[in-house]
Amino acid sequence: MNYKQALHNPIFEIISKAAQEIGVESYVIGGFVRDFILERDSKKDIDIVAVGSGIELALKVSELLPKKPKVQVFKTYGTAMLRYKDIDIEFVGARKESYHFDSRNPVVENGTLEDDQNRRDFTINALAFSLNKENFGTLVDPFNGFEDLKNKIIKTPLDPDITFSDDPLRMMRGIRFATQLNFDIEEKSLASITKNAERIKIISGERIVEELNKILSTDKPSVGFLLLYKTGLLDIILPELTALNQVEEIEGHTHKNNFYHTLEVVDNICPNTDDVWLRWAALLHDIGKAPTKRFNKKQGWTFHGHEFLGGKMVKKIFERLHMPLNQKMKFVQKMVIMSSRPIVLAQDTVTDSAVRRLVFDAGEDVDNLMTLCEADITTKNPSKFKKYHSNFDIVRKKIIEVEERDHVRQFQPPISGEEIMKLFGLQPGREIGVLKEAVKEAILEGEIPNEYEAAYDFLMKRAKKLGLAPVSK
Ligand code: ATP
Ligand code: MG
Repeated sequence: MNYKQALHNPIFEIISKAAQEIGVESYVIGGFVRDFILERDSKKDIDIVAVGSGIELALKVSELLPKKPKVQVFKTYGTAMLRYKDIDIEFVGARKESYHFDSRNPVVENGTLEDDQNRRDFTINALAFSLNKENFGTLVDPFNGFEDLKNKIIKTPLDPDITFSDDPLRMMRGIRFATQLNFDIEEKSLASITKNAERIKIISGERIVEELNKILSTDKPSVGFLLLYKTGLLDIILPELTALNQVEEIEGHTHKNNFYHTLEVVDNICPNTDDVWLRWAALLHDIGKAPTKRFNKKQGWTFHGHEFLGGKMVKKIFERLHMPLNQKMKFVQKMVIMSSRPIVLAQDTVTDSAVRRLVFDAGEDVDNLMTLCEADITTKNPSKFKKYHSNFDIVRKKIIEVEERDHVRQFQPPISGEEIMKLFGLQPGREIGVLKEAVKEAILEGEIPNEYEAAYDFLMKRAKKLGLAPVSK
């Protein structure tokens, strides 16, 4: 089969010419080929294999391009990269790899195209288009990757035990591709992931998280998380989640399975946000439930304080997986800690002051918090489902109303501590805090609007009660 039409971008002719000039064969390989055949929007990157030096080829390509783009050379890996228009093109020399048991860094030798295809992770990623003059555009497919694409199958080119044990990250990649492309993992490959799951321990947190983020960025992340669970990988990577997969019964009382509930929440939130951190919050919102679960005769099953403990667990997970310990972590933590607030609020009559407090505490993240809580509604009881959603609609409306009136989203006290000190001739001390707090409380309770005059009057009355008099001007 010929795929010249895939190679209409003039860059391919240039690479072909450059390869010819330095006397090597060249091929496009991997994701570009796969996504073209799948008619899928490809990411803007292209992988080129040279049977010879990839670095030399990259340098030659740059020379032939009018703008002579800068070539980034990674000598230790024998790879080079250049940017052409908005495409990243990566060049690598065809290679043969052999692995040691305790590392995913292989010993590398020069090899043939076939050697190079052998070291690829999946048959669908080992497909190549020739860029050589005599057969430009021909598909080179030694492992029937084309058939696997048509049949939507993820399968390793070699014995899966070798492929996965050599580089255990491939287990995560396989599950990630299955989720992204909506493919099945071939039975033998899946069994091999289960068998080799422990090997994931040699992979760095950063690489694991990269794959988790890609799974979380799909339309239906539960597909990936169920595969991670089924193969035993999730137990190793995020045991806090698998701990939620149990249902206990005491005296006829059961509680919901919080693992499956969590996956439902993650799927639910996807149409409403592309923010991967909010999706992380959905994934982790109930992790405090396993360690806080208790039973008592009066209340049945309880999970008191699970939000707060969950917040602490978020930090531990981020540390363990070498995730960023910055604002993103703080955001996920905040979402988890506050994850029950709107629900509690929507169960009763929704009052202005409760909404005002919610907006005050959540600040700029209040909309994200609402999105999380709406996704958290997984009840199968249609009348409850409707009721919760319509209560949340009320909450959303009230958030807007309250915000228009009192601007508590980025709360600034209407009277500063300094002004209070001046008014009453006070030195810095406890009373200032007490008065400021009283003003804030009055605003949040709706006793006074968030305005200077109202706050001033309130302050005077409150100060009088404390026996403070304004200094005369
Ligand atoms: P995408 O970029 O859309 O995530 P891709 O297939 O292009 O998918 P990359 O990570 O960009 O994935 O890798 C490019 C190619 O390199 C892959 O198609 C595959 O052939 C090969 N490859 C990448 N990582 C591995 C790995 N860990 N083991 C074996 N081959 C790999
Ligand atoms: Mg790619």
